[in-house]
Amino acid sequence: MQHLAIAIHGGAGTLTRSSLTAEQEKAYRAVLGSTVEAAYRVLVNGGSALEAVELAVTYLEDSPLFNAGRGSVFTKEGKHEMDAAIMWGKTLAAGAVAGVRSIRNPVKLARAVLEHSDHVMLSTYGAEEFARSHGIAFAPETYFFDHHRYKQWSQVRDSNIFMLDHTQQVDDKFGTVGAVAVDQEGNVAAATSTGGMTNKNYNRIGDTPIIGAGTYANNSTCAVSCTGHGEYFMRAVVAYDVSCLMEYKGCTLQEACSIVVMDKLVKLGGEGGLTAVSPGGEIAMPFNSEGMYRASLQSGGTVFTGIYREE
Ligand code: ASP
Repeated sequence: MQHLAIAIHGGAGTLTRSSLTAEQEKAYRAVLGSTVEAAYRVLVNGGSALEAVELAVTYLEDSPLFNAGRGSVFTKEGKHEMDAAIMWGKTLAAGAVAGVRSIRNPVKLARAVLEHSDHVMLSTYGAEEFARSHGIAFAPETYFFDHHRYKQWSQVRDSNIFMLDHTQQVDDKFGTVGAVAVDQEGNVAAATSTGGMTNKNYNRIGDTPIIGAGTYANNSTCAVSCTGHGEYFMRAVVAYDVSCLMEYKGCTLQEACSIVVMDKLVKLGGEGGLTAVSPGGEIAMPFNSEGMYRASLQSGGTVFTGIYREE
């Protein structure tokens, strides 16, 4: 029988037990847990892995706790520019958007690009125009305003510092969300969405929407969604590298993830992690940072939520 699985992340970074209050921790775990439950129901009801990852990322984008959609961080200009991607492992079809503004759920726009465009990636105005013509919801600036993230940005706005949303010295909120899943037919899919890095240069694009860097899915190997310092993830072509190690070297999912995240990325200086699934339903959620918001649910199992390293 096909093993169903869903695994999600809400960002990785310098997060220790002392950095969250019991209440904050509870709030994060509640959103992570209800998200995997909802996405798992899609899979149980015969929905595709693509539908499940889109739904999971939509839930996380709608939560102000995470740096994606509603909770997106501020750019150097004090605006929100979001990136997202989605990929279907059965056909290698992919859709991505970069630097979009005012889009309520960038992952839905990425899905529309996958379904209705001959292109893989659309950026800025072109993506927004495409959104308008495909009935994708917009939201006013106020929807994206979050007091904590504004404070976080205010502390670095006059400098050249740009930072992961989860850099603890300024704010302990983590950023970027993602999901991977395998459905009843053994198809895998991946989706990732982010507001990027606080005080990033305007029009800076990270790894999230780059197919093969922050997001990748292939039925013959795995589905991968990454989070971390995007510049390093792009240079290491992280998501595709995990897939390649499985395809060309015969590594298991765990082996491939561990080589890429715990060895290659560390040597390069890239902080972060990823979630991945294989078509057989195996899950991997490695990270080389202090912590990573994550959750999973698979056939015969119970909901797992994790934040810190030792969980
Ligand atoms: N990878 C994202 C980026 O560089 C940031 C993150 O994962 O927190 O845009």
